[in-house]
Amino acid sequence: MFEALGDKLTGVFDNLTGRGALSEKDVSAALREIRVALLEADVALPVVKDFIAKIKDEAVGDKVIKSIKPGQQVVKIVHDGLVEMLGGSLSDDGKEASAISSQLQLAGRPPVAILMAGLQGSGKTTTSGKIAKFLKDRHKKKVLLASLDTRRPAAMEQLGILAEQTGNGFLPIVAGESAVDIAARAMDQGAKGGYDVVFLDTAGRTTIDEELMAEVAEIAAIAKPVETLLVADSLTGQDAVETAKRFHAQLPLTGLVLTRIDGDGRGGAALSMRAVTGLPIKFLGTGEKLDAIEAFDAERLAGRILG
Ligand code: GDP
Repeated sequence: MFEALGDKLTGVFDNLTGRGALSEKDVSAALREIRVALLEADVALPVVKDFIAKIKDEAVGDKVIKSIKPGQQVVKIVHDGLVEMLGGSLSDDGKEASAISSQLQLAGRPPVAILMAGLQGSGKTTTSGKIAKFLKDRHKKKVLLASLDTRRPAAMEQLGILAEQTGNGFLPIVAGESAVDIAARAMDQGAKGGYDVVFLDTAGRTTIDEELMAEVAEIAAIAKPVETLLVADSLTGQDAVETAKRFHAQLPLTGLVLTRIDGDGRGGAALSMRAVTGLPIKFLGTGEKLDAIEAFDAERLAGRILG
């Protein structure tokens, strides 16, 4: 995960900590290398500029250069800057916050709805299954999965299979129903069946088209979701960031899920998402298996990148 960036930054840091005294010139040179490493990792340019400017403010100055271990100080400043860029440190109860359930706001009269949105192939259906499995296994929640993808019968069936595999409820498919009708039926069935959580897996789309956006807005008005999550493929880099921006402009999202982190050697999407969209990354998809999901933790991710 993010190996290329990790290797580059480790190289810069080894250089800094390997010598005793540092001059402003040394620090500036290191910052230039960090800038290039971030750009090569496909981090959005404004995010990189902002990051470097902040780091520079702190790192280039007498306080750091005249300190006993200037190299280590710079490393710490970069680390803290990365954590901030990723969304900040966890609250005091860091352990609890790293649990999957604590990423979700599930308060409300049950059943509460979680609306899942994203481009086709982003991993939306798999992620619905993963989160549902976790809520059932760890938190004994009664979960109903409903597919609203009326245009793709295979997607509906896939969610049905996931429901069966994870032991969760699945809203039966009724041919000819509209997505809005299915959402209403899902919420009704959720209430009648004593469910805690209803997942509404919206239609995957290949582009962000107006018609599907209007549909999803109507679904949100009916289900009043406690969470509206956008699932995006981290391998698509800045396209994923652009997708998140465009979805959020039309549908108020509460958070992001980045999938295929397991195959992402660069990390540009993860590193840019928070700063560009202002939205929290809530989960990382780390593989195809149903337990391959992690609660997002900025501190832990920064630690992984910096080695
Ligand atoms: P959807 O069209 O957005 O619903 O996408 P799917 O849930 O069908 O996922 C598309 C493919 O990506 C499937 O083969 C999944 O197994 C795979 N996938 C989903 N999430 C991840 C992930 O985090 N890592 C990896 N390696 N594969 C994933």
